[in-house]
Amino acid sequence: MNNRGIGDWIHRRRIKSAGRVAVISAAGELTYDAWADRIDRLADALARRGVRQGDRVAYLGENHPSFLEALFAVGSLGAVFVPLNTRLAPPEIAFALNDSGSTVLLASVTMEPLAVSGSRGTGVGLLALVQDGTPVPAERQEGDLPALAYEELMLSGEPVRPDVAVDLEDLAIILYTSGTTGKPKGAMLTHGNLTWNSFNVITDFDIMSDSVALMIAPMFHVASLGMGVLPTLLKGGTLVLEPRFEPGRVLELIERHRATFISGVPTTYQLLAEHPNWESADISSLRQLTCGGSAVPLRVLEAYEKKGLSFTNGYGMTETSPGATTLPARYSRAKQGSAGLPQFHTFVRIVDPMGEVCAPGEVGEIQVQGPNVIKAYWNRPEATVDSFVVAEDGSWLKTGDMGYQDEEGFVFISDRLKDMIISGGENIYPAQVEQEISQLDGVAAVAVIGVPDEKWGEVPRAVIVVRDGHELTEEQVIGHLNGKLARYKIPKSVVFTEEMPRTASGKIRKPDLRKKFG
Ligand code: ATP
Ligand code: MG
Repeated sequence: MNNRGIGDWIHRRRIKSAGRVAVISAAGELTYDAWADRIDRLADALARRGVRQGDRVAYLGENHPSFLEALFAVGSLGAVFVPLNTRLAPPEIAFALNDSGSTVLLASVTMEPLAVSGSRGTGVGLLALVQDGTPVPAERQEGDLPALAYEELMLSGEPVRPDVAVDLEDLAIILYTSGTTGKPKGAMLTHGNLTWNSFNVITDFDIMSDSVALMIAPMFHVASLGMGVLPTLLKGGTLVLEPRFEPGRVLELIERHRATFISGVPTTYQLLAEHPNWESADISSLRQLTCGGSAVPLRVLEAYEKKGLSFTNGYGMTETSPGATTLPARYSRAKQGSAGLPQFHTFVRIVDPMGEVCAPGEVGEIQVQGPNVIKAYWNRPEATVDSFVVAEDGSWLKTGDMGYQDEEGFVFISDRLKDMIISGGENIYPAQVEQEISQLDGVAAVAVIGVPDEKWGEVPRAVIVVRDGHELTEEQVIGHLNGKLARYKIPKSVVFTEEMPRTASGKIRKPDLRKKFG
């Protein structure tokens, strides 16, 4: 039977890329052919333990080859992979396990306490632990699952291919959104969604069979999995997996493995450029530096330009597997601040509140269409209905993000619709105000929210965390903005706090902030 899904990718590379290294990690190197055998064994072992087509298998752990072995083995069985964020709290793990209905949990030894407490009372019937890393033993209660060693589980299977038909429309991954605007939603990523996103990335980023992608961002984020890992493996390139981000080690790894690709957020790149070894490190092998989350600040751009390197910026979300737009490196200066052009096989339109398509320059909701866009959320029929709009030219995902396209089609993101503040009939995008405030020395984190106001309906308020050893007053913040922003955008008040409420992926939870300071 034909397996058309991602679960077949490493198998297809078994002969095509025999002898070539697929993955490098602290656990050593694996060639495509050796890796295919391990994936087949794991699939067979899971099948022997009752995993069938459509069943959900969860994974909790840092970057390690076993994450991908599990992804591909589960895919080859036509089952569904559920990656979990290692920074979630036990009740959040339990929510994802219950909501997805996962029956198997694979975890790393470093995550054992979270795996045990998070799976307590859920439908998980098998827990296997990957032994690499420093173990953190869990305190078990009566009724808790015993853990099996992952290698033992794998070796209980034979290296035989599962005989299961899998189509591109079949579900491959349930991936939970970050939960920045509410309860996380399980995005239903199909094999086709992930395949098409990989083709987009290969096309727009020039991924090649000699590409070496250094993956420092965790693979349970779709940005890392979709923009780096899967396109590289589809082309037969090599992955270097790192469990955590240490700037000095990253510079060393780029040099040692002649990495061609790294991905990160602006802070990742800033920390690399601030490291004492930055000047001496030979990172000339890099061809693609991809950056998401927000625009790359000019001073970071300049530090990399001195080494002859430029960034490809991107905008995306869990629901688009995850690429929606990318800013080609050659435009990183000319279109600084833009999230770029739609990916090659993906379409973007900007729509006003009446549902009309906006003219260039006009801000509206960003909507995305393409074979990489999900069709539904798991178990959330209402969220699914709310998130899509059917037009004459098909179904569009309502991203909930506001922005505009310039005359040439470059997308500029303003902010999330839910975070927009309307003051005296004027729209304020907090992201713009936050960007200005973050230029101030001493600001460790800033968020701007709307607070009710009798005269204006709503007025902006800044919530700021001050950097250790610095002092900042409301007058200084407001004084800094005078003349830089329109008067109505300048916060009417500033409050200082010790810490921002954040999601497991590090984004500020504005709903919580509004509850506390609104
Ligand atoms: P939830 O949907 O549960 O509220 P979330 O939207 O934060 O959480 P993700 O899918 O991880 O979950 O994040 C996607 C969002 O991140 C986008 O919709 C957008 O708001 C933001 N984003 C991504 N890339 C960029 C970028 N380049 N510039 C600005 N914002 C971005
Ligand atoms: Mg979202």
